[in-house]
Amino acid sequence: FWSAVSNEFNDSMTKASFDTWIGTTHPVEYKGNQLYLEVPSQLHKGYWENNLINEVTTMASEMLKKPIHIIVKTTDEYASDPTIIEEEVKEVKKSIPRPDSHLNGKYTFDSFVTGKGNEMAHAAALVVAENPGATYNPLLIYGGGGLGKTHLMEAIGHYVLDNDSEKVVKYVTSENFTNDFINSIRSNRQEEFRQAYRNVDVLLVDDIQFLAEKEGTQEEFFHTFNTLYNDQKQIVLTSDRLPNEIAKLSDRLVSRFKWGLSVDVAPPDLETRIAILQSKAKAEGLEISDETIAYIAKQVSSNVRELEGTLVRVQAYSAIKRQDITTELAMQALDGLKINQRTDITASKIQRKVADFYEITPADLKGKKRSKTIVVPRQIAMYLCRELTTDSLPRIGQEFGGKDHTTVMHAINRIQEEMEGSQRLRDEVNQLKNKIKD
Ligand code: ADP
Ligand code: MG
Repeated sequence: FWSAVSNEFNDSMTKASFDTWIGTTHPVEYKGNQLYLEVPSQLHKGYWENNLINEVTTMASEMLKKPIHIIVKTTDEYASDPTIIEEEVKEVKKSIPRPDSHLNGKYTFDSFVTGKGNEMAHAAALVVAENPGATYNPLLIYGGGGLGKTHLMEAIGHYVLDNDSEKVVKYVTSENFTNDFINSIRSNRQEEFRQAYRNVDVLLVDDIQFLAEKEGTQEEFFHTFNTLYNDQKQIVLTSDRLPNEIAKLSDRLVSRFKWGLSVDVAPPDLETRIAILQSKAKAEGLEISDETIAYIAKQVSSNVRELEGTLVRVQAYSAIKRQDITTELAMQALDGLKINQRTDITASKIQRKVADFYEITPADLKGKKRSKTIVVPRQIAMYLCRELTTDSLPRIGQEFGGKDHTTVMHAINRIQEEMEGSQRLRDEVNQLKNKIKD
């Protein structure tokens, strides 16, 4: 069986990766439905857990025609604990946060749920984490708030450190970078500042949109960037929008930010939201039925942070009421919750911004014209009303010249589907959101 698995991979991997990851792995024991594999180091184990285990589990389960559970341990782990093979539950690998990297211990690839909307960003992050400085440089992850940009960025940092604890990883928000820079000037310690930012293997700069208008800091960051780039050190950036949409960001920074790869994160679809809630509930040891999870997942559509918030709220409510978490209880806990919504965003504001953007008029959006140049913006505007206001579907229909709520629902579904396949549409919608929120 093992040779069949390795043959599969021999065909699909480069020789170097195959030799490194599969060639060094040995089956130790196959017992009940558990297959024990031995790898030479923690690094290999991490790689297996992040990249191979799912695929091999599927392969093994198909070949052996029953669900197989794969357990990967290092040679040392087998040697130090011979009873390990009896163990039933797969242990979860934990990352140790390192104080100087400023990484959050929770933000690892293990705890990141992938789905439509973040697959590309996740894949790119993993590639960069495996070979920092060698592939996409810089890697820029952009998209709306609470969609996992910081999480993915920090996951890269953890992964790099887990593979090689000698590597120097530095996480910083662009505001902290700015403050550090200003303080270094004030206290005449610019050399120290430069050392701190230029002698790293991986520099993670979060929320670069806040560099806007800070000319001095941009200038300094330009030099930091160049030094790291020339030394083939990895730079990872996040932003709430594409660099060329950041007003008052110098052209030379914008052009450098485009050298590598830009990937967006889009709001998770329902399936992904359910998977995220399941994963969080499991991590918290919460017992919640699938039905209740699905109910909660439907309450929040555009933001994972808010989604987590709902779970915390339901959990707290259940503790206070001393009742188990049921759909009924979740409904009560989340009742009247205006999630992610601002009162100053109204349907007419959205219509104005969308109309401006597509060079049509708000009257076109409310009217009945069926030409494509109007229908698509109309659907986008309806979608944005649903995302950014608390208006019900019938209410949105009214705002658009008295349309039926099924028309509105159709429009929203349409845009959601189209966005899944079209980066361009996602970018446009994201740009519009920023314009509406600014
Ligand atoms: P952003 O930086 O895009 O504003 P964050 O990375 O801070 O968003 O994510 C917000 C919260 O949602 C964090 O607690 C993060 O762990 C969680 N989160 C976001 N996306 C995912 C995901 N795909 N899987 C698991 N947790 C996620
Ligand atoms: Mg963030």
